[in-house]
Amino acid sequence: MSKKHKYIFVIGGVMSGVGKGIASSSIGKILQAKGFKVNPVKIDPYLNVDAGTMNPTEHGEVFVLDSGLETDQDMGNYERFMNVNLGNADYMTSGSVYKYVIEKERNLGYGGKCVEAIPHITGEIRRRLEEAAKKSLSDISVIEIGGTVGDYQNIMFIEAARVMAIKNPGDVIFILVSYLPVPSSLGEMKTKPTQNSIRMLNSYGVQPNFILCRSPRSIDQKRKEKIAISCSVPTEHVISAPDIESIYDVPLNFEKEKLGNILLKSLNLSPKTRVDGLREWKKFVQKNKASKEELNIAVVGKYFDTGDFVLSDAYLSVIEAVKFSSFWNTRKPKLTWFNSKDFENGKADVSVLGNFDGVIVPGGFGQSGIEGIIMAIKYVRESKIPYLGLCYGMQLMVIEYARNVLGIKDANTSEIDPNAKNLVIDIMPEQKKKLENNDYGGSMRLGSYPAILLKGTIAYRAYGKKEIHERHRHRYEVNPEFHTRFIDGGLVFSGISPDKRLMEIAELPTNVHPFFLGTQFHPEFKARPLNPHPLFSAFVESMIEYRKKMHRVAVRTAELLIEGSV
Ligand code: GLN
Repeated sequence: MSKKHKYIFVIGGVMSGVGKGIASSSIGKILQAKGFKVNPVKIDPYLNVDAGTMNPTEHGEVFVLDSGLETDQDMGNYERFMNVNLGNADYMTSGSVYKYVIEKERNLGYGGKCVEAIPHITGEIRRRLEEAAKKSLSDISVIEIGGTVGDYQNIMFIEAARVMAIKNPGDVIFILVSYLPVPSSLGEMKTKPTQNSIRMLNSYGVQPNFILCRSPRSIDQKRKEKIAISCSVPTEHVISAPDIESIYDVPLNFEKEKLGNILLKSLNLSPKTRVDGLREWKKFVQKNKASKEELNIAVVGKYFDTGDFVLSDAYLSVIEAVKFSSFWNTRKPKLTWFNSKDFENGKADVSVLGNFDGVIVPGGFGQSGIEGIIMAIKYVRESKIPYLGLCYGMQLMVIEYARNVLGIKDANTSEIDPNAKNLVIDIMPEQKKKLENNDYGGSMRLGSYPAILLKGTIAYRAYGKKEIHERHRHRYEVNPEFHTRFIDGGLVFSGISPDKRLMEIAELPTNVHPFFLGTQFHPEFKARPLNPHPLFSAFVESMIEYRKKMHRVAVRTAELLIEGSV
């Protein structure tokens, strides 16, 4: 068996959005299940240095790593599928590569040479890929090159991959994830666009070793053979990847085609273990399928007027975190999205939230729709409906509490009204300086920070330990000047930074409200299918309890009515 490091490049054919990220995550998963250490790498071809400055409703969620690096949502998929924590070496953009090379050139780092895209940019890409492999101590790297074959933007990355294949014969393979349309006028699957994509890839000097055929349905043997013959790949390297109900079925579907073993064989490796490494995963998928009873969850936020497609991308980690905790409790979450502006302008009444088992206010930025969210939180607090506030969702929960319980009527955050007298949420001095210098790219508190939990609270019970580490992405904090007023007024800060300056979790005692909790961090970034997040699980359990209680109340009311009528 070869001891050398292996590289698998995943490239997209025909069009974007066919699920390269899920395919790469699933390939990583099945190789892991064969006993290999796998490190996934995402390459984004855009010029943004990181994903932090991109609008989530256009580009999808900004996923934050432990280090604080702001990345593409695919990094979240890799972490969730493979249950790993990724580092900075596992992510690169064209912007980050060019920035590094240009800065090196300015510092005379190229010893007077003419600096060119080839070999310097491609060389830097290869250096990074080798570094990612080394740092992760992995056996195999799965590298997803963003974009589609034929784009100008990703050509440098494909060229770097080609050179790696030449320098490491037998250790590099290419997988093309392609799309095979089934035009409704024909009702038949067409292979031509995929054939053309492969020719285009050939023109760059790259021959794919595997073709993953994404399509509304499974590819039949006849078409597999057609692609195999016309594109010079063995028929068993043409893999069916039809649309399926859940993304978490994909690794199991790949294994139905024995993709794991075929991939290993073409890398001159054999499985390291005979144990079924997908056992736990199968359990999770079964739980998912067995989850029939619905949990109705309202999500109240401000970015929700752009249509469902975009929405699910902008809050991907939140949605997945809810799913994991629900499935392990055999419940199927049904999310209903409320645009908080509708509560402000009277299009909808907050009492509609009374029909739900729980309410989430996720993260967000800026002023619009904020008063509507605060109205919703007030209703949820007073009606004792389970509530989970994430980042902005915690800050607005604190503002609502200040206004309506502590009687600080003009309580606000400096994000909305920097001149308000009572800024219960305010910017920390170190971030203020960065903003004054227009350094928006680096003005947030980002990445993993510790917090100490208070015994006897919902948070402590959920985590079952004293110290936690969670990921952050925000500029504002609960203002230390108001800490004691909140505590005296009944709000419990159950998670606090070790230096006691920053309030990380706020909640109400359970004798006041069954589950009213907000986090300054984003717990959703650390939720995994096989490791659901304790706070999301506690929230789900409280919704199940709440639902049972409401059911008991409904039954009792019906009984009383019947008794009355007898
Ligand atoms: N806008 C808030 C802040 O910057 C919350 C950010 C968030 O929800 N991620 O502090």
